[in-house]
Amino acid sequence: MLGRGQTNPKICEHCEMEFCSISSKNDHLKRVHNKPVENKTTPRILCPLCPEGETFLSHRLVKHLKDIHDIVVKVSTLNFNNIKEFEI
Ligand SMILES: [Zn+2]
Ligand SMILES: [Zn+2]
Repeated sequence: MLGRGQTNPKICEHCEMEFCSISSKNDHLKRVHNKPVENKTTPRILCPLCPEGETFLSHRLVKHLKDIHDIVVKVSTLNFNNIKEFEI
């Protein structure tokens, strides 16, 4: 029995839909709520400037931004929150 405050990892926290597996819930999060689940082991950041939506490891994205888009950023300032505000 789930107590108050506990969450079932197979239930979507946004719409309370239940899934048969965590991977299908993650797929739902990405497709329905546009909230791709962070991969803790290999965090990848979407390049906001590439139409293909390429993702990079943070230090690779810094190099990519510099080489491809001629933009210099510091790895330490790069995260999922501020990259969305990143506009030209
Ligand atoms: Zn949902
Ligand atoms: Zn790019």
